[in-house]
Amino acid sequence: MSSRWLLCFLGLASSASSPAANFVCQADVSHPSYTVAEQQRVDRYWSEVVVYLREYLHTLQTPSGNCARSAEATVQTYESRAAGKEFRCILDAPDMALLAKQVAAVVAEPDKAKACFDVQSHFPQPRLFTPSAAVRAYSPVSAWIHRPLLTDYYRGIGGAVGKAGIDFANAFLEATSQPAPTAHWRTDVSMRGLPTLWSSVGWIPMYAENPSAGSSRFRGGYAYAEVMGPWGALRIQTIDGESVGAEIGMTVQMAGTFYPFHFHQPQESYITLSEPHCDAQYQGMILAFDSDQLHRSKTAEGWQILVDGSGNHWKDWFKSQDGERSWLTYSDRNSVHSFYARRCSAPGPKNALVAVWARSTARDHEQSTRLCRAADPSGKRELDRPWIPAICDLRDVNQ
Ligand code: ZN
Repeated sequence: MSSRWLLCFLGLASSASSPAANFVCQADVSHPSYTVAEQQRVDRYWSEVVVYLREYLHTLQTPSGNCARSAEATVQTYESRAAGKEFRCILDAPDMALLAKQVAAVVAEPDKAKACFDVQSHFPQPRLFTPSAAVRAYSPVSAWIHRPLLTDYYRGIGGAVGKAGIDFANAFLEATSQPAPTAHWRTDVSMRGLPTLWSSVGWIPMYAENPSAGSSRFRGGYAYAEVMGPWGALRIQTIDGESVGAEIGMTVQMAGTFYPFHFHQPQESYITLSEPHCDAQYQGMILAFDSDQLHRSKTAEGWQILVDGSGNHWKDWFKSQDGERSWLTYSDRNSVHSFYARRCSAPGPKNALVAVWARSTARDHEQSTRLCRAADPSGKRELDRPWIPAICDLRDVNQ
């Protein structure tokens, strides 16, 4: 072997074993000085963050369905010509390919990315919570971070939302600790497999104080957490000069709730981590905003969309989701989507629709989640069931 080829070989070997991405953290990442014991807790939390991101990436990259190079995602739960679901290979979406590249950079050099990791013990906005005293006691790291409890927060809110929230928070540990699907995962990334992460990450009761978000039970019975992203524990501004749009976390929606139809600019993907306790317990719906299943009318600002699933029409759109069916979904920009988590009639363990959640363009566009409203002139009807006609106002779509 000539010396030139040898050098080339060595160069390749060293670039493969020690990639050298340049990570720039967000300016709001704090760097407190920790005692040895505290640093061990931070390290334990971080190690589970890395596993979560690594395994998420591996699942996205593993071929499934008709896809040869990545997992197959449901992009519409009903498409008229197919009279069924529409699929896409998830990493064929450029935004998800970029997300995967960014996550790959993190898991390739976790020690460098760790500089952007922050346990967020005093994060200003959004307010971050631990669901309950039982969740706090579930890991010494969570006990040490000592976030405010959702049970106290919901008690302060009171009323029907507060009552639902207390039920949710008290059920949280059991509901998130149910056996997770194994078909598309090589490691259990749920509360059972990564107890420090799930109990230590900051949870956000997104709809508790939003009176437009459907039923009280849903408003109290929903929370999400952000592991990586602009508001998450790992806050990386750029990698090699490229803006980091990856936003990755988890969602928990209590059984017996309907997440109203909604839409938003950033693309979004979910992987279902909960197995149903009865037939068709967890169902999801995604329709493109220009689907012929929806009735569109032009307005001065954009489009008004009527989502009318009355009669049994909604059953065409809502598909069971679990570890095998619609296990991975991808909502393109402004797709109308919704989740229906039914309550089983037979008694069983406390349960909830639990998912790995991600958005891919968290810095590029308007991030707000826009909820649709019941198509009820009196304004009194709650959008709390999938068959209730709804109106969505899309104001920023140039199509
Ligand atoms: Zn969404």
